[in-house]
Amino acid sequence: MRECTVAKNKKNCGCSYMACGNRGICCECLQSHLKKGQLPGCCFPPDVEKTYDRSIETFVKTFQEKGPWW
Ligand code: SF4
Repeated sequence: MRECTVAKNKKNCGCSYMACGNRGICCECLQSHLKKGQLPGCCFPPDVEKTYDRSIETFVKTFQEKGPWW
């Protein structure tokens, strides 16, 4: 069984909400956002991520405006 890489994930996390208990636990992070029709903060460019609008609608709108940014 693979070990969780939570410490490494935290270092690479693109989310600016530092108080979140899911930080670095990407499987929990993804599930919590998908349940709300959202995507994790790391799916957005920094200027959009910092608005904390994680909606899939905003992801699509951002992609249409910026094209791939990653
Ligand atoms: S993207 Fe959401 S669940 Fe993931 S660390 Fe940031 S605030 Fe927490």
